[in-house]
Amino acid sequence: MNAQQVLEDLKRRFPNEPEYHQAVEEVLFTIEDEYNLHPEFDKANLIERLCIPDRVFQFRITWADDKGNVKTNMGYRVQHNNAIGPYKGGLRFHASVNLSILKFLAFEQTFKNALTTLPMGGGKGGSDFSPRGKSSMEVMRFTQAFMLELWRHIGPDMDIPAGDIGVGGREVGFMFGMYKKLTREFTGTLTGKGQEFGGSLIRPEATGYGNIYFLMEMLKTKGTDLKGKVCLVSGSGNVAQYTTEKVIELGGKVVTMSDSDGYIYDPDGIDSEKLAYIMELKNLYRGRIREYAEHYGCKYVAGARPWSEKGDIALPSATQNEIDGDEAKELVANGVMAVSEGANMPSTPEAIKVFQDAKILYAPGKAANAGGVSVSGLEMTQNSIRLSWSKEEVDEKLKSIMKNIHEACVKYGTEPDGYINYVKGANVAGFMKVAHAMMAQGVV
Ligand code: NDP
Repeated sequence: MNAQQVLEDLKRRFPNEPEYHQAVEEVLFTIEDEYNLHPEFDKANLIERLCIPDRVFQFRITWADDKGNVKTNMGYRVQHNNAIGPYKGGLRFHASVNLSILKFLAFEQTFKNALTTLPMGGGKGGSDFSPRGKSSMEVMRFTQAFMLELWRHIGPDMDIPAGDIGVGGREVGFMFGMYKKLTREFTGTLTGKGQEFGGSLIRPEATGYGNIYFLMEMLKTKGTDLKGKVCLVSGSGNVAQYTTEKVIELGGKVVTMSDSDGYIYDPDGIDSEKLAYIMELKNLYRGRIREYAEHYGCKYVAGARPWSEKGDIALPSATQNEIDGDEAKELVANGVMAVSEGANMPSTPEAIKVFQDAKILYAPGKAANAGGVSVSGLEMTQNSIRLSWSKEEVDEKLKSIMKNIHEACVKYGTEPDGYINYVKGANVAGFMKVAHAMMAQGVV
């Protein structure tokens, strides 16, 4: 394989999909050497079959708002690869959603899921519907209309969606209700469900907790931990909230959080009580992070991201491409020693280069945020055996999965000078598993 050639071909065949190209480019150049050690891969044209999704569904969603206005949105499901298990990946509801973003997420998900050691393929879906400012009834009508189309493409052994940006417990609950009505079956087809109807304990916490478990493994390689470390967190949704909770528990101090309007800087640190305020503000009242600054009298910066503040560790937990090259330089200049990604692809390629050139600890989302889908996988298992595990059992399993992912990254990503290239490690480890499964299953 010539990575550059493959990338050029994909850009020609699928133009105007920059996020998809960005995700593929990162993987291609890090696996190229390993791939070329296996001429049988090239003979089976494994690389194109791995980069191009198995199939993509696109549909119009029609629903009515509270005033009776009829609205349309676009809905998508990208089924990327099911070589090691049924398609699995979240649904994103956000105004920015388009096919390029979902193809990048489904592609990344395939490698991430392979890293978890659980039998799950990769997929992703969503809609350009924005839950922001909508009433609960509007969100329900929209999610039901969405499910009226999606249900025929998913199933407990076929494709199991979950949440992502804009899709939390409330939205999963509404979708599960409609799915159940349409199929007349009670199955574990969606994960992230409420605990009363098959949801797993620790699923809401899993992505944020998992990211911190991964970070702790990275810090251990430097003989340190979180105690006294100042952390910059972006976002204030699911991932950001539980990331902050775990940092507080392990003795670190979170000084920033953000939303799409701006960020807050609280030099005293966000303690458990302040975090409870944020959770209520965001999850119950769907308010803005600005209100935290008004409530606690701290700094709020509108229209900006928190990366110019001083901290030891950066934990981007909002969205893709939220740290650019200049911001990465600022972080490094300010003494950041570790970046661990709760969000998917939050660092641009330029930012990743800055982190790696500076030889700081840098964990890509597909390794560091794999805890969410891992516990989704554990939810599928519990649904299949019709049992539920305790909080402690699930948390232990999550810890051990994150430790295993870290070990896989070290195995495939350690460079001759001892620096651990977590991007390479995660990509090669995930790729090899999927590649071997695809080879064994013939040309399909
Ligand atoms: P939520 O919807 O709960 O929260 C998203 C947060 O990010 C909100 O604070 C939101 O602000 C902010 N945000 C969203 N889009 C943008 C944007 N374009 N610019 C600036 N800020 C933005 O989502 P999650 O916490 O679930 O997801 C966050 C990230 O983590 C995503 O990249 C997701 O793919 C990734 N992830 C999530 C997993 C999960 O289990 N939930 C699993 C693995 C990865 P606002 O309130 O203004 O919208």
